[in-house]
Amino acid sequence: MSVIKCAFCKGIGKDPFDLLSELATCQVCGGKGKVEVVEPAIKCAFCKATGVYPQGSRITCTVCNGKGMVTVKGATEECPKCKGTGTAIGSGLPCIKCRGKGVVSKK
Ligand SMILES: [Zn+2]
Ligand SMILES: [Zn+2]
Ligand SMILES: [Zn+2]
Repeated sequence: MSVIKCAFCKGIGKDPFDLLSELATCQVCGGKGKVEVVEPAIKCAFCKATGVYPQGSRITCTVCNGKGMVTVKGATEECPKCKGTGTAIGSGLPCIKCRGKGVVSKK
């Protein structure tokens, strides 16, 4: 387990989009500006480690839950289906094979 800077609010602890009010706390880190991830973790391919769901939305990334990092298990290799982008070609949704992580377990 390690503590990283919250990707969604960039460590500020406030809602980056001011959805409720300027003073609203970040829903990902609860205002702490930091989140815990279970190691080993890699950058989330789907949101490119921004913690924000792509395509200009204001919701948290569903792959990493806004943390910007995702936990992987054991040895991994680039997902052949999405070529490591984490995004399903055409739909813009998280890749089904790697669930948006961009990597799959090595066999
Ligand atoms: Zn945060
Ligand atoms: Zn993500
Ligand atoms: Zn994939």
